[in-house]
Amino acid sequence: MAKKQFKAESKKLLDMMINSIYTHKEIFLREIISNSSDALDKLCYKALTEDGVGVSREDLYIKVTIDKENRIVKVSDNGIGMTEEELEKNLGTIARSGSLNFKNDMEKKEEIDIIGQFGVGFYSAFMVADKVTVITKAFGSDKAYCWESNGADGYTITETGKEGYGTDIYMKLKEDGEDERYSDYLEVYMLRGLIKKYSDYIRYPIKMDIEKSRKVEKPDSDKPEYEKYIEEETINSMVPLWQRGKDEVTEEDLNNFYKEKYFDTKDPALTIRADVEGAFSYKALLFIPENTPMGYYTKEYQKGLELYSSGVMIMDSCEDLIPEHFRFVKGVVDSQDLSLNISREMLQHNRQLTAIKNNIEKKVKQELKKLLNNDPERYEKFYQSFGLQLKYGIVADYGAHRELLKDLILYYTSNEKKMITLERYVETMPEGQEYIYYACGESVSKIDNLPQTEPLKDKGYSILYMTDEVDEFVINMLGEIDGKKFKSINDKDLGIETEEEKSDIEAKQEENQVMLDYLRDCLDGKVTAVRLSNKLKSHPVCLTTDGEVSLEMEKYFATIPGDHPDIKAQRVLEINPTHKAFYMLQDTWQLDKDRCAKLGKLLYNQALLIADISIENPAEYTDLFWELI
Ligand code: ADP
Repeated sequence: MAKKQFKAESKKLLDMMINSIYTHKEIFLREIISNSSDALDKLCYKALTEDGVGVSREDLYIKVTIDKENRIVKVSDNGIGMTEEELEKNLGTIARSGSLNFKNDMEKKEEIDIIGQFGVGFYSAFMVADKVTVITKAFGSDKAYCWESNGADGYTITETGKEGYGTDIYMKLKEDGEDERYSDYLEVYMLRGLIKKYSDYIRYPIKMDIEKSRKVEKPDSDKPEYEKYIEEETINSMVPLWQRGKDEVTEEDLNNFYKEKYFDTKDPALTIRADVEGAFSYKALLFIPENTPMGYYTKEYQKGLELYSSGVMIMDSCEDLIPEHFRFVKGVVDSQDLSLNISREMLQHNRQLTAIKNNIEKKVKQELKKLLNNDPERYEKFYQSFGLQLKYGIVADYGAHRELLKDLILYYTSNEKKMITLERYVETMPEGQEYIYYACGESVSKIDNLPQTEPLKDKGYSILYMTDEVDEFVINMLGEIDGKKFKSINDKDLGIETEEEKSDIEAKQEENQVMLDYLRDCLDGKVTAVRLSNKLKSHPVCLTTDGEVSLEMEKYFATIPGDHPDIKAQRVLEINPTHKAFYMLQDTWQLDKDRCAKLGKLLYNQALLIADISIENPAEYTDLFWELI
């Protein structure tokens, strides 16, 4: 019979498996067992949702057998099996596999990364075996087929005989090499260890024949005698972690489960267990990763929790179980109340699901709050990874979730020099402070250098430093905290001047109005006003805005696609009337108006530099500087 060639992508993967330098070859058993477990799930699901299948969950199992003489490890299951077409489709090409996306140029990536990061499926058998034989009979069919392959040079499919339905996988182990001892996989202790390590929570018994010995009573001899016998044992504990009592599961168990299931190398930042009894009972085991997963803030990221009903998985990524603002939560929900033969479309509008989702939302919030109070350092780590998500959550849906989320967000403050909650900011406001002050910029240090921060710092008022684009939208959405309104340090009136100071600056403004208007006009519409300001202490100028649109918002809208001509900040050039630059302006105004205009231009450009906005014509600016000096 002619050999069929593997599809191109499969071939690459296969080559990789065969020549693998990957140290965790042992995961082949986990992969093969997981496939068996899936096949049992599928049959179980069929039995629960269709009439007359006549299979009961208790009959389903996986068996691992060792044939030392022929160097074969065999994994059998009485699951759904495969038809000839399925065999061809599933084992002839890896592109079908849901767990791998090989399209992102595999060549360039480190082999090890790929293998470490994903479940690698059936082909991993070739890491340890030089020949793999699959004998399978689909449930309800009377024909069995044999798929066989020695690796890269292709595979054959022939009709064969097999008792009962299900699948047997025979892996003929490679010969031992200098560094590799494949023979180890022929030892019971080894396979048993691997099953315990990787497949303990598989919800079907994984059986092995274990050799035991027992004492034989011989009345006429005083020496005890022993005889060997074989007993079939279930190796895995089967009950999933989330079904076990809290005291039966260690933190290490949970961490291992998480890392194994979600391909993370780090322990989760937070593990949440829920066991809810009531109108809708469910158990949940939830995790929050420590680091932001790759591609988390993109559309490609798949949110969702695994949904089980009485131990049978009915959906592997149920989006309706977790609100968007907590989409970083991973894990499992198991509810016996869900009806199994409900269609997936119906599930989406299911009241039970909504109830569970609301419940989970509350629980996650509670646990995050607890972490924030009890272990602020760890909370900050979490916040670094997912704080942005919380902020998006506040802005989303017209602010529908702001009450839930507002006490979970943190900002760096100038007084405490660390991240604190808004609640804490308000609590620690000194007597007389009316507003929550904030400043936006690219980084904490850049904001800290803004001249406008000086008068507030002088008064001992703390300023929130905001470095995310979304921050001002968050502020707008929140409006106030405990009755205290937010105020930008760029605001015309910071609310800290005395009446005397106010009228003083107004008088000065009036005295110089003609010059200031002239300077504004000479700036060709770049600013809506040139103004004298009490806000500045040691610096000559700063750039502020009038109206709703801030400089940061303008920058933000400039980065997103589309035309937003109206979203421009109304810039104001503020000048410090006690700075020598101002005296120079006044003097020049009397002598040479042209030169005064040039000084104004120079100061405007300097204000841009201070605000971290690039100047339009740096060469012109430099020439101007040297002309005037
Ligand atoms: P994945 O499990 O990620 O989908 P695999 O390469 O491990 O990819 O397996 C490919 C497909 O082969 C599976 O999706 C399944 O349809 C089929 N398959 C593998 N092992 C078995 C088995 N023991 N019983 C039935 N079908 C199987």
